[in-house]
Amino acid sequence: MPKLKPVGIFGGGQLAMMLAEAGTKLGLETHILSPNAACPAARSASLVVEADYEDLAAIRAFAEACSVISFEFENLPVRSLFHLAKAGHLVAPGPKVLELIQDRLTEKQFLQSCGIAIAPFARIDGAEDFAAAIADTGLPAVLKTRHFGYDGKGQTWITAPAQAKAAFDAIHHHPAVLESAVDFVRECSVIAARNAKGEFVHFPVTENLHKNGILRTSTVPANCSDTTAKQAITITRNIAEKLQYVGVLAVEFFELPGGELWVNEIAPRVHNSGHWTKGGATPDQFELHLRAITGMELSMPNCVPFAQMQNLIGDEEPRAEQLAGQGWQVVDYGKGQARPGRKMGHAVRVEGGVS
Ligand code: AMP
Repeated sequence: MPKLKPVGIFGGGQLAMMLAEAGTKLGLETHILSPNAACPAARSASLVVEADYEDLAAIRAFAEACSVISFEFENLPVRSLFHLAKAGHLVAPGPKVLELIQDRLTEKQFLQSCGIAIAPFARIDGAEDFAAAIADTGLPAVLKTRHFGYDGKGQTWITAPAQAKAAFDAIHHHPAVLESAVDFVRECSVIAARNAKGEFVHFPVTENLHKNGILRTSTVPANCSDTTAKQAITITRNIAEKLQYVGVLAVEFFELPGGELWVNEIAPRVHNSGHWTKGGATPDQFELHLRAITGMELSMPNCVPFAQMQNLIGDEEPRAEQLAGQGWQVVDYGKGQARPGRKMGHAVRVEGGVS
């Protein structure tokens, strides 16, 4: 078989680092484009090109050498990806999908158009919208910027109407959505992959614990009923089909007391709640993503019966040694400088073998 051209990834963080490691296992070279050449992915990628995501000449030259362009984070200038697609480069997932998901409002409207349940929400364009919005969502509610939010950033809680002004100030009056507080019994996610032929595979439903909007732990299998787990996978499949999605995606859910699921959000990429698959599944989410975007066949992953992942955030890095001593497999992202809320690494513990 002729050797495939390298896979190009926009972004050089830990997700790109683990994608590049999976590439090596598959015999695929991985090229990284990042504004910062000293990024975590530099350790495992075949090549790092230091360039701005909006430098069209640089991204075109980068794409020329690659069979497909993908990305490891959502907050990219989507017009750069449209530019590449228009020039005939394969971009997976496609720029239209990224554009839809980059805006919480269009993402929610898409989910509603698919008949998928989500938390009640209202659109906020200006301070005058709050009274009607609160009447729709009730309180407490969470104000979320439509764009550029991640790990709880760009989110402010409101428990009384009088707090609306301060909350809107806190998000610098950016266009936003106000969302009802969901009284969930648990949060869970499904990581799945789809290729251009329409083959769809997925990992078991994972249970996720967040603190201050940041993922702390993921445990698989989730402690939900079989019916709820099947429902989560059906919803994920529907989303992937409707989007004609190519690559790995994660769908995050709120599970309500009766077992009903509301979709929280879609991540069009490999996902933190799928890190347990590295060591806990064959193939892992990183290999599956590369397989899906390069048009390889997909088969259902073989998984361990139990796995747990915990993030090492901010100054928690010193815990790594202790966890390693207790049998956890620790992955250090090599970021150097710890900052509050910054993901520095993670640790995975599995029980049983891959079957
Ligand atoms: P998000 O960035 O929207 O995924 O939010 C990050 C985390 O904040 C979620 O995983 C939840 O733990 C929490 N959260 C976000 N929205 C809500 C909501 N409407 N009700 C309750 N918790 C929420």
